[in-house]
Amino acid sequence: MTNDLLITNCSVLSEPAAPIAHHCFVEIAAGRINAIGPISACPDVARRPVIEATGKLLLPGLVNAHNHCAMTLFRGLADDLEPAAWLNDHIFPAEAAHVSPEMVYWCTLLAAAEMIRSGTTTVADGYFFSGEAARALHDAGMRAVVAHGIVDFPAPSVPDPSKNVATVAAFLDRWQGRSPRITPAVFAHAPYTCSPQTLRRAKELADNQGVRFFVHLAETRTEQELIIDPQGATPIRHLAHLGILDENCVCVHGVWLDDDDLDLLADSGAAVVTCPQSNLKLAAGIARVPAMLDRGIPVGIGTDGCASNNSLDMFREIDLLAKIMKLSPLDATALPATATLRCATAAGARVIGLPTVGTVAVGAPADLILLDLHSPHLTPFYGSNLLVYAADGSDVTTVIIDGAVVMHERQILSFDLAEVYRRVAPLAEGVRRFAANSSRPTAPTG
Ligand SMILES: [Zn+2]
Repeated sequence: MTNDLLITNCSVLSEPAAPIAHHCFVEIAAGRINAIGPISACPDVARRPVIEATGKLLLPGLVNAHNHCAMTLFRGLADDLEPAAWLNDHIFPAEAAHVSPEMVYWCTLLAAAEMIRSGTTTVADGYFFSGEAARALHDAGMRAVVAHGIVDFPAPSVPDPSKNVATVAAFLDRWQGRSPRITPAVFAHAPYTCSPQTLRRAKELADNQGVRFFVHLAETRTEQELIIDPQGATPIRHLAHLGILDENCVCVHGVWLDDDDLDLLADSGAAVVTCPQSNLKLAAGIARVPAMLDRGIPVGIGTDGCASNNSLDMFREIDLLAKIMKLSPLDATALPATATLRCATAAGARVIGLPTVGTVAVGAPADLILLDLHSPHLTPFYGSNLLVYAADGSDVTTVIIDGAVVMHERQILSFDLAEVYRRVAPLAEGVRRFAANSSRPTAPTG
């Protein structure tokens, strides 16, 4: 793959609220956008690869700000369950039995295939054996913030929890500066699986290494009762009391936040990643995204792991988010499509620590997608609101990351998807046998 490219005759959406420019060219050099303009000013097409994009809309690739990529292996294994039962009776046991370096590599590649084919160019991942996740996302050609998970009990890649922070430190050492597309980070699972001391040490590590700190927070109504050694009246105040709620802290979910929590968040500079499908499917609740944006809290959007979603298509995510935000206030203006799309592109990228990603601008990284507008559901195409309310991942025909074409005409070019299917099949067979022999309560079926 090369990182020089010329895209001709496309329409361009540079920013969600910007007017769409038609009959354009976009020139990419060394992985960055070098020029954008009318096709009449297009540079010489000789000596470089060209994508002819008549009828296509070019826009920034989507940013999935929270995922547990390798959980593709557990998709559909346990649905329609209460969050605690889902996690403790199904997901944690399945992870203890099946998560391995090989599983993380191939199942993360499977997630990458799904994300690329639905227009996601950047993902923030948080899981175990994160070196394998980083390797997979690198091999897939994706841009990623890969955070190593921390919990205070034996985990698949950290059997001795006393070594959890040290394991993550070693992961950061290995991956910082190793790939221009992969940024390592720290992911403390939650205040109910990490003690105050672990949370503090994990945050200190992230700050000292100059990487992002992620934590699941305020996901469910009962979380507050489960916090280990609570230091505040709410999960947010717990973090604030520990001194870790600041501009390097990304709170994933942020569903159960009162007005004081939101004010505290806004003052701290911390960010939120909202995961609407996961929150609805686990009946966790509905985050107050408009109230966050009103206060200037940075907000990104994530799918969460696909065991709790069950899709990694960010187009589904933005459609749902924009709609459910209108529901509880019964206000159709509550979260406009353009604001939603911004959270799924440039704003989401800033949240996860990649401030130059997510725009179509000269000098920006060339992380771009092309959508086919010649579809009944996108005709006529008046503006970017249709991307939120009508488009889906299968409309994406071409994906460019760091200037390299990783998918064209819906064919993944950066890796062999057939091999991924072959490698995942025996892993899935093991999960099937595990589930069949399990005496744990099963998901309701009727
Ligand atoms: Zn999560």
